[in-house]
Amino acid sequence: MKKICVFCGSSPGTLREYALGAEKLGQVLLKRGIGLVFGGARFGLMGRLADTVLAGGGEVTGVMPSLLVDREVAHPGLSELLVVDSMHDRKALMAELSDAFVALPGGLGTIEELLEMLTWVQLDIHHKPCGILNIEGYFNHLLAFLDVAAQRQFLTDHHRSLLLDSDEPETLLDLLQDFSSPAVNKVGWILDVNNTIGGNK
Ligand code: AMP
Repeated sequence: MKKICVFCGSSPGTLREYALGAEKLGQVLLKRGIGLVFGGARFGLMGRLADTVLAGGGEVTGVMPSLLVDREVAHPGLSELLVVDSMHDRKALMAELSDAFVALPGGLGTIEELLEMLTWVQLDIHHKPCGILNIEGYFNHLLAFLDVAAQRQFLTDHHRSLLLDSDEPETLLDLLQDFSSPAVNKVGWILDVNNTIGGNK
């Protein structure tokens, strides 16, 4: 695993544990020689994570649409800042550059990016591991929601199991590195549901 993409808040959140968790993840990336790919901003948890990896001599690639660069939110000290035309291009490039995806606490942007990467696994667009660093139980409600979605058969148990989680960066990185996804695609599942109403494989 050479590069991991981290989605996280452009805000710091209310607890100092969030920033400490971002720093801890940055240290683990450094220790394992893994480069960081992220949204390129200098604020919030995004900035804290990038600062940690840069301070330790690691490789940090920011991917940012020109709209945000023009608003001067880009981190000034990155190893590399790749400027793209749109938010869609940004996500596609982040996905292409990275071997795995991690979400730290964040808001709409973070959740949207994480869930899109998981949806792409479901649709066979890629098979890269996705995980969350569940600092102070921040993602408990999201995990509970996904359990309900699986129980009520809007999500297969297999696809539910694709989202890895831990509150410890080292453990999460181990889970991502050990992950291998059998190819069970959504198209097959939709066909099955059409044939046997309420079916969940
Ligand atoms: P949020 O969780 O809503 O703070 O959004 C953070 C995520 O969305 C990051 O992973 C970024 O890729 C993207 N994003 C949202 N707002 C910004 C911003 N002001 N600057 C850079 N990226 C942002």
